[in-house]
Order: sequence, then structure tokens, then C-alpha cells
Amino acid sequence: MYEQLLEELTQHKAKLVAVSKMKSNADILELYEKGQRIFGENVVKDLTMKMDQLPEDIQWHMIGHLQRNKVKYLIPRVDMIHSVDSLRLLKEIDKRAGNHEIKQKILLQVAVAQEETKHGFNFNNLIEFHEGNILQSFPNVEVCGVMGMATFTVDEELVRNEFQQLKIYFDTLKERFYKDKDTFCEISMGMSGDYKIALEEGATMVRIGSLLFGPRACAI
Ligand SMILES: *Cc1c(COP(=O)(O)O)cnc(C)c1O
Repeated sequence: MYEQLLEELTQHKAKLVAVSKMKSNADILELYEKGQRIFGENVVKDLTMKMDQLPEDIQWHMIGHLQRNKVKYLIPRVDMIHSVDSLRLLKEIDKRAGNHEIKQKILLQVAVAQEETKHGFNFNNLIEFHEGNILQSFPNVEVCGVMGMATFTVDEELVRNEFQQLKIYFDTLKERFYKDKDTFCEISMGMSGDYKIALEEGATMVRIGSLLFGPRACAI
């Protein structure tokens, strides 16, 4: 499955975040031995534990909702935070990254799904924050692009529309605020059930768990 998936991603020039939440170190190492280096987790405690126990050259990505009081456990060790969904969180990340004199790579999570439970900036707010130069006022943060989650549904057209929307949001931000920033280049969208659609609609990173590792004991 892994090799096949990589081939598919290569065709679309997209990267794989192997979502290892609730999976054992042995499971992770098996994929690591095959060459996988980017792994994603959604719980801070699990992420830091795995960071301590697994090889140094793994690039850990935080993909789940992040509380401000836990940012300090991730920085400076996490490679990228996909789930930045508020200015307050951004501010905390900037502060902690500054303490370590690093620039923290992040993605702006944007709300595109119909479910209210899914986190993310409202796109109009995001535009306002950029117009007011607020988003650009965090010197220790590198904004690398956007992240989004589609509605959990069998309606493929709805999912496709939401991914198209996220691509439009990315293009708009790029054109208006990040034209000269080569580092603003990532669209993180697509999971096991919808990654093919995401690739067709321009994903540069997909976050895939159950397809790689098998189903999780309980769904998160
Ligand atoms: C769990 C999770 C994924 C991966 O889900 P699968 O359906 O197992 O591929 C992707 N993104 C986020 C934010 C997740 O929490």
C-alpha cells in the first residue's frame, strides 16, 4: 500500500504526512524503515512521547486542534503545525518560537466544511488580518500555506467543492499577500477517504492514517 500510495502522490508532486495517531512505535518504525520521515499526530502528549522514543530525523507534524497552553511542549521540536486556527494561538507560537530563536513553520487552518465542529479561520477574517498587517506581525512564524478538512460525507461533489474552495483561498492569499514568498506553497488537504479528490484539486500534502496503518481502535 505504501509504495503504491507514494507513486500516486509523486505523480501529483504531493507529500505524505503519515498519520500515526493511536499507533505503536513498532508500527511507525515499520514505515520509517521504508523511508517515511513525515509523521502526523493530533494529541500533544502522544506526539511528545513519540518524539522522545523514536528516531531524531523524523519530522513531526501537529495536525490536531492545539490548545495554547500546550504549545510550549511542541516548540522547538515539531516540524510543522497544520492546525493554527486563531490569532491567539499564533501569538503563543510566535512567542515560544522566539524564545528558542527559531522560525516555526505553520499552516493556517481554514474552515471549509459544513460541520460547525471543525476548527479553522473564517476566510474573510483571515483576509482582514492580512490587510491589517496583523498576520505579518509575527516574526518567528513562517506561514507555509493552508490546511483544511472536508465535510465527513459520502457526497463526493460536496467534498470536491470544499477542496476547490480551499485551493481558491490559497491562491487568493498567495496572490495578495505572499507573492514573493516561495515558502508559502502548501495546501494540506485530503485524508484516507478523500485524498484522491484532494490530489485532483491541488493538494500538496495529504494526511493519511487508516489507509496506511489499518483502522484505529476508536475513531478520532
Ligand atoms: C486522523 C486525521 C487524519 C487521517 O485520517 P484517516 O482517515 O485515518 O486517514 C487526517 N487529518 C487529521 C486532522 C486527523 O485528525
